Amino acid sequence: MKKTTSQADHQRIIVVLPHPDDESFVAAGTLAKYIHSGAQVTYACLTLGEMGRNMGIPPFANRVTLPHIRKDELINSCNAIGIQDLRMLGFHDKMVEFEDQQALDATIFALLQELKPSLVITFYPGLSVHPDHDATGEAVIRTIRRLPAAERPVVLCKAFSVGHEEQIGKADVTIDVTPFIKQKMDSIRAHRTQFQAPELVGNRELTEEEIRYRYGTEQFWTYRF
Ligand SMILES: [Zn+2]
Repeated sequence: MKKTTSQADHQRIIVVLPHPDDESFVAAGTLAKYIHSGAQVTYACLTLGEMGRNMGIPPFANRVTLPHIRKDELINSCNAIGIQDLRMLGFHDKMVEFEDQQALDATIFALLQELKPSLVITFYPGLSVHPDHDATGEAVIRTIRRLPAAERPVVLCKAFSVGHEEQIGKADVTIDVTPFIKQKMDSIRAHRTQFQAPELVGNRELTEEEIRYRYGTEQFWTYRF
């Protein structure tokens, strides 16, 4: 497995993602691993996913209760991972691409100034499927690009659109998160309204091997400014 940006080096990390549950699939194991080695993690979650269509199986949320329920799910997910600092930034779900860029960038800039992270994790702009994902990655990259090169944190991006490897090659950071698979699965399962797969709603137990195969590795692309 490829050597990563030395994982114990990062003591202060900011994760910037738009939706509750993005953290579960993108980086739950990686974050649990860093936290285990003493890192302080701040999760800046841009929206509450309040426009989501999934209401649970069987449905237990509705349009009115969904934002409240997703907020609780997000808190539970962060607790499962061990994230010490959750910032719910209050932007509108499915609208991140239409937000005032200056306001969005200023929010991210303020977090960078306050926390001085050595590592930021976000989505790869243009290669992350959902417009909110791409707009979030764009805002993070735009903001960090404005910093003097010597002050820029390492930025690890998640990419997963069809054909992304043709554009940016293979991930340069691969993290084995199997020692933290419990934290990751607890984080995924905390988002009870969102997950429809039988193994996640309890109709079938995944074998340990299946869990390791599906969830045991997290991959990122280091953003080159
Ligand atoms: Zn998302």
